[in-house]
Amino acid sequence: MLLKDQPALAYDLLSIDVGSAPNVGAIAGAEQWAIPVKPIAELGRRWLAFSERMTTWRGPLGVMVIGGGAGGVELALAVDQRLSEIATAASLQVTLATKDEILAGQAEAARRKLRTIFQRRGIRLLEHAGAERIERGSVKLADGQWHQADAVFVVTEASAAPWFADTGLPLDEKGFLAVDDTLASTGDPRIFAAGDCATVLAHRRPKAGVFAVRQGPPLADNLRRVLGGERARPFVPQSRYLSILGTGDGRAVATRGDWAIEGRWVWWWKDHIDRKWMRMYR
Ligand SMILES: Cc1cc2nc3c(=O)[nH]c(=O)nc-3n(C[C@H](O)[C@H](O)[C@H](O)COP(=O)(O)OP(=O)(O)OC[C@H]3O[C@@H](n4cnc5c(N)ncnc54)[C@H](O)[C@@H]3O)c2cc1C
Repeated sequence: MLLKDQPALAYDLLSIDVGSAPNVGAIAGAEQWAIPVKPIAELGRRWLAFSERMTTWRGPLGVMVIGGGAGGVELALAVDQRLSEIATAASLQVTLATKDEILAGQAEAARRKLRTIFQRRGIRLLEHAGAERIERGSVKLADGQWHQADAVFVVTEASAAPWFADTGLPLDEKGFLAVDDTLASTGDPRIFAAGDCATVLAHRRPKAGVFAVRQGPPLADNLRRVLGGERARPFVPQSRYLSILGTGDGRAVATRGDWAIEGRWVWWWKDHIDRKWMRMYR
């Protein structure tokens, strides 16, 4: 295995979990002018620097979030909430622009609830409005119009690392590592992959943390088994899952299957689940 600025490493078994990132290169000008949401540590640094500047901002302030999946929806709501608290001299307008509908693949009830929340909060929602080009201070959307944006966050669809194509390993149609139901590559039983970077061909699921973390125990079990000379065991992920979207104002929307529910207690529930998870790693 080749590493950047390091000697190559030999391996007996390899397990890859490098995640995914929005394809910033797909929008002209995004690499120069937009803030991508991954890597997450970089987003944290850039957000802190940006929000610091916003405390003294006066006059119109346009912020655009590009991408209407769960991450983009949460980010738009959180950015709106935080900036309305700290950029008190600014006239803030947050816009979420997305190529299709928001929350594609989730319940219609969730979309309806979120649209109502966006309206209530004064966040502009532009659906069927993919971004084409970003320049300093503005974004051109699919309708050909330029929209003012002093800051642009890109949260578009999870995409695969380009270097996967050089590995010679089988990939799915979007360039993610193709694995079987034991999480081993379909082209090499000594290479495993899990989380966003992999697609389990037999059980396709959205690229979401909930699936990534649940692959951890069967992955660890299979790595031990194969090292001990045993066969790897197949694993069937759950098909329905609970998604809870924080709305940034101490409330949240929970959705599972075809229902959705909103409330302050939903945020407490999400916070409790997240903290419980994090305690397990301390
Ligand atoms: C704004 C936002 C909100 C989200 N909210 C939720 C949510 O509420 N619930 C949910 O289930 N999912 C959510 N997701 C999706 C979730 O973040 C991912 O599905 C999850 O992080 C995938 O886990 P992973 O371990 O596969 O990858 P990651 O968590 O992305 O981890 C990959 C790691 O690999 C490192 N890496 C990358 N390339 C290399 C390389 N070449 N060499 C070495 N290391 C490398 C990265 O730096 C990173 O540390 C959200 C995503 C975004 C963007």
